[in-house]
Amino acid sequence: MGETLQAVRGMNDLLPDQSSCWQFVEGQIRSVLEAYGMQEIRMPIVEKTELFKRSIGEVTDIVEKEMYSFEDRNGDSLTLRPEGTAGCVRACIQHGLLRNQVQRLWYYGPMFRHERPQKGRYRQFFQVGVEVFGLEGPDIDAELLLLTARLWKRLGLERVTLQLNSLGTVAARARFREQLVAWLGERQDQLDGDSRRRLKTNPMRILDSKNPDVQALLEGAPILEDFIDAESRSHFQDVCAYLDAAGVPYEVNPRLVRGLDYYGRTVFEWVTSELGAQGTICAGGRYDALVEYLGGSPVPAVGFAMGMERLVELVEHRSDGIPVTTPHLYLVVAGETARREGLLLAEQLRDSTPDLRVVTHCGGGSFKSQFRKADRSGAPYALVLGEEELQAREVAVKPLRGQGEQERISIEALADRLRVLLAL
Ligand code: ATP
Ligand code: MG
Repeated sequence: MGETLQAVRGMNDLLPDQSSCWQFVEGQIRSVLEAYGMQEIRMPIVEKTELFKRSIGEVTDIVEKEMYSFEDRNGDSLTLRPEGTAGCVRACIQHGLLRNQVQRLWYYGPMFRHERPQKGRYRQFFQVGVEVFGLEGPDIDAELLLLTARLWKRLGLERVTLQLNSLGTVAARARFREQLVAWLGERQDQLDGDSRRRLKTNPMRILDSKNPDVQALLEGAPILEDFIDAESRSHFQDVCAYLDAAGVPYEVNPRLVRGLDYYGRTVFEWVTSELGAQGTICAGGRYDALVEYLGGSPVPAVGFAMGMERLVELVEHRSDGIPVTTPHLYLVVAGETARREGLLLAEQLRDSTPDLRVVTHCGGGSFKSQFRKADRSGAPYALVLGEEELQAREVAVKPLRGQGEQERISIEALADRLRVLLAL
């Protein structure tokens, strides 16, 4: 026998006892997205490597060291998507979805980054992303933040805070970047190797550094806020005013930058202190320059992505727990004929009541062991079909959760009676 095979490091199986929580979170997300008129888009998991190099930028952690890239059999360089924005923009341009139209889109699926796996950081992880195209005003920025705030409420998350900043226009950032490079250039000896390298390639990324010494040094550095243009300033004030009016609290964090070059104006992160180092559950902002950069006509855009593993982890810790999906009925069968008839009876019940969840006992075994399984299934009722019931064309309905007496019901009346008992 060979060695036992294991999943790829940093890539998780989702086991049956976890799937209820995932489905609960997914269901709430879908329902909130629909409440804001968002439409789903699904893109391939694999794209040309070039797309990510162009959209994310060559000198980012993602492109430099985190992408799963490979040559396919034609010799084309392909990459497992590390995020969804690039593919979404590519699809919209390709299918002409951005010509004089507003698009409110969302997507959901696995993303891949070759990072060091740890709690809240995996090599395959799931993101829900939202991208809105064709709207340039602060109202949509604010509405996306209201959407996320509503979602946290639905998920029962209380200790998440919104951090907000404005990056200004591309020109404003260029002026800031110049000053920052000059300031840091005089203090190169206090930078780590990564930051020194970025000083030449992508200096804004230094602000994102996770090295505490670098962060301490940055305390005295020029602040982006002082370089923001008047229009961006007023855009930002309007976003803040919408949030104030809607009663959504936020913190303005002048150090908040997104690593990616195509962001401008509004940027934000929702963070929690309950997940340790990996505390950002949702991040996004405005990226008005990206569509043109990827070859489309210029279209304003704003969006965000949230990390499902981190969200699910928070929801799992909720004190009141989440609803778990269990069957309504577990069908216990005794004898060869009953076993055959039982399968058909369960089919009839599913025909008559589409939302009904029935587990039919398969594989034989004593009444006792069948009832043990019925109990463990979490179903509120067992249906019992033995020789005697078959003869009488009846079924016994046995409450499993201490809710009253067992009853015998004719097969004809069974579906109606079950709908009453189960309130379906
Ligand atoms: P971080 O600072 O945590 O590395 P990021 O800036 O790389 O995040 P984004 O690219 O903005 O993250 O992705 C949006 C969200 O996706 C993050 O806020 C996080 O919740 C989630 N996420 C990103 N990378 C991972 C990962 N490797 N494993 C799990 N979730 C992730
Ligand atoms: Mg990252």
